[in-house]
Amino acid sequence: MSPRPTLLLLIPVGWAGLWTPWLGKADLNVLLHGRDSYRPDAIDYVLSFRPPPGFLKTLPNLKTIFSVGAGVDAFLADPEFPSHVPLVRFVDPQLSTEMAQYVVLHTLLFHRNQQVFDAAQAQGKWAQQMLPRGTADTRIGILGLGEIGGIAGTRLRDLGFAVSGWSRTHKHVPGIKSYAGDEELGAFLGASDIAICLLPLTAGTRGILNAKTFATMPKGGYVINVARGGHLIEADLIAAIDSGHLAGATLDVFETEPLPEDNPLWRHPRIVVTPHIAAISDPRVAAQYVIDGIEGAERGERHEHTVDPGRGY
Ligand code: NAP
Repeated sequence: MSPRPTLLLLIPVGWAGLWTPWLGKADLNVLLHGRDSYRPDAIDYVLSFRPPPGFLKTLPNLKTIFSVGAGVDAFLADPEFPSHVPLVRFVDPQLSTEMAQYVVLHTLLFHRNQQVFDAAQAQGKWAQQMLPRGTADTRIGILGLGEIGGIAGTRLRDLGFAVSGWSRTHKHVPGIKSYAGDEELGAFLGASDIAICLLPLTAGTRGILNAKTFATMPKGGYVINVARGGHLIEADLIAAIDSGHLAGATLDVFETEPLPEDNPLWRHPRIVVTPHIAAISDPRVAAQYVIDGIEGAERGERHEHTVDPGRGY
C-alpha cells in the first residue's frame, strides 16, 4: 500500500482553521507551514496563494502545486518557480458566478447613474430624473473571455447589453462578438463603452489598461478592473478621468494591496474602490477540489486546469 500523501498548506497560519476541517476528511497528512515541522523531501503537494519567492524549489519531491485562487501570477512571478511541477489553478462555477455578480453589479451602478443619486442623497437632495443610456446601445467589452469572462459576458448579454469579448484566440459564445489578438485590440476598445478586465496577469497583459487604451475607448467610457492591479497604470486612469475622457472606474484589485492610505484612488469622486472581494475562494469547495486533484494525481492523471507556465495562465 502506498503511503498517505502529504499536503503542505502554505497559507497564512490564521487561515488554517478555514481549511483543515474539510481537508481532514481525506486520507492525507496535512501540515501547516509556520506551525508544523517537516522535512522538505516529505512534501508531495502544496496548496498556496502567494508563496514566498524561492520557497517552492526547496521541496524536491513535489508532485503538484494547487493555487487557492483562479489567478496564478504570484506563483509564476517567482524567478525560481519549479516549472517542471504541475501548477493547478482553482476553477469553480461558484467563484465564476460571484465574479459575474460583481461585474453585473458595478456595470449597473454606472449604467443606472447610481453615483449621482448617492451624491444627491448625501446632501438630502431630490435629484432630477435622468434617462439612462439605452441598454442595447451600451457596448460592453470584456478583456479576457475565459472561464469568468464568459459567464460575466453572458449575464450582461442577457440583461440586454451589446457585449463583445477580446481574447488570445477567437471564441464562439452566442450573442457575444469575438475579437482576438493584438491586431484586433484597437477595434475592440473603440467599441467598448464599458471595458471590463478579466485577463490573467502575464507579461503580455501587464499594464494593458493604460493611456493608449483609454484614449482608444469612446468618450464617456467606464473601466472595471477585477483581474489584477498590475493590469492598470493607475496614474493614466486618473488622468483619463480628470481630462473628462473617461466617466469613471470601479477597481477591485491594486498594484499594492492593501491599497495604501495615501493613494489618490481612495478619494477620487469618480472611482469606486473595493478591497479585492469580487469573489473569494470558498475553502469548503476548494478543499474538495484539492482532494479530488490529489486523488487524480496519485492515479497519474493530468488535471484539466493545469497552467501552462510558458503562456502564464
Ligand atoms: P481564464 O479562464 O484563463 O481566461 C483568461 C482569458 O484571457 C482567456 O480568454 C485568454 O484567451 C485571455 N487572454 C490571456 N492572455 C491574453 C492576451 N495576451 N491577449 C488576449 N487575451 C488573453 O481565466 P479566468 O478563470 O477567467 O480568470 C481571469 C482572472 O480573473 C484571473 O487570472 C485572476 O487574476 C482574476 N480573478 C480575480 C478575482 C477577484 O476577486 N478580483 C477572483 C478570481 C479571479 P484564450 O482563451 O484565447 O487563451
